[in-house]
Amino acid sequence: MNQTPWNRKILTGYWTVVLLYLLAGLAGLVLTLVQYAWWVDYYLFHQLLLPLLLMSAEVGALELAFRKRKGSMEPWFILTATTLAATIVLFNPNLHGMYALFALSTLTSLMYFDRKLTLFSCLLGIVTLLLLQLDPAIHASMTLYELIAMIATLSGAYLLGLGVISRGEQILNQLTKAMESERDLLVDNIMYDTMTKTDALTGLYNHKTFHEYLDSLLNVEAEQLSLQVAVLDIDNFKSINDTYGHWVGDLVLKRIALMIREYVTPNDFVARYGGEEFALILTDADSKQAFRTLDFIREKISQVPHDELAGRSVTVSIGFAERVPDMRKENLFKIADARLYEAKRTGKNKVVGTSPSTQEVLE
Ligand code: GH3
Ligand code: MG
Ligand code: MG
Repeated sequence: MNQTPWNRKILTGYWTVVLLYLLAGLAGLVLTLVQYAWWVDYYLFHQLLLPLLLMSAEVGALELAFRKRKGSMEPWFILTATTLAATIVLFNPNLHGMYALFALSTLTSLMYFDRKLTLFSCLLGIVTLLLLQLDPAIHASMTLYELIAMIATLSGAYLLGLGVISRGEQILNQLTKAMESERDLLVDNIMYDTMTKTDALTGLYNHKTFHEYLDSLLNVEAEQLSLQVAVLDIDNFKSINDTYGHWVGDLVLKRIALMIREYVTPNDFVARYGGEEFALILTDADSKQAFRTLDFIREKISQVPHDELAGRSVTVSIGFAERVPDMRKENLFKIADARLYEAKRTGKNKVVGTSPSTQEVLE
């Protein structure tokens, strides 16, 4: 996990501690000026300037090291929190509340969600507390009871820290599980959607999806969207099955499906309408362009030899119809189908997009 942004925030927090010390120190200075004027010199140097300098040096050193970013910085952040607390305590031995600052490093360690660092911060706090006893002023201001109570408090902070980490991990686990099940659901939905929308053999859209899509397109006014429906049927497919076997038929079907998909534009829609019949919806093209696209597909298919058919190629016949305003869906399809029949009747391997006329079909 990248800790850098958090370390930056923690560093800013440390600078804030220095600033707060300065502000509190200045407030104390006012109090000293009013009540203990004779003590101002000592206060200025020992309780304001010297600790502020030391603290700035501690945070400044961490800031420099952070900017160079060499190796793992976390222990140094914990160490700085402890030295900050120790500096404040050292220069204010009579302000016992300041000892609570030793919990600062434990709090900091919690940011890293790391039990070892939390233990390190607690032990560091206790060791520093004991080392501070070497200072006569501190030693004199603190009873053994207080020392024991503070060690107990730091240990308590450690245990509390462990609790916070466990709780955080628990929440993280729950979140991860929730995200995983949501993702699984999404995948299931997509799979289900794909299964219900497509044809298993060719991977093209199925008959049902074709009609759904056509319905949705027909909601758009004919003047706003030019639309052609084409029906494509493989020529003499039965004889392929009969001569080479059903599995070869399947293979050819798949190959032709792939070719159709390859040659239409991304705006066009291809479905396996049933058996060896395919239905296409072409949009954003006029009748002439539609004819060209469909004839290109027909030609390409007829040029591909199939090894399984002893090098023979397969041809297709296509009928298509353009939608005109107020035309009903059934009629659009009926006309395209009639033109496919016309293509078959007049020799196969061709595209028919004009005759029979709409009039003739619908009569
Ligand atoms: P035409 O040129 O008039 O279209 O002749 P045809 O032989 O292609 O037409 P017909 O409708 O007589 O035969 C279509 C054949 O397609 C019948 C059926 O066995 C075969 N067929 C339909 N679906 C599949 C399939 O999924 N796999 C295979 N291998 N054959 C299929
Ligand atoms: Mg056929
Ligand atoms: Mg057929």
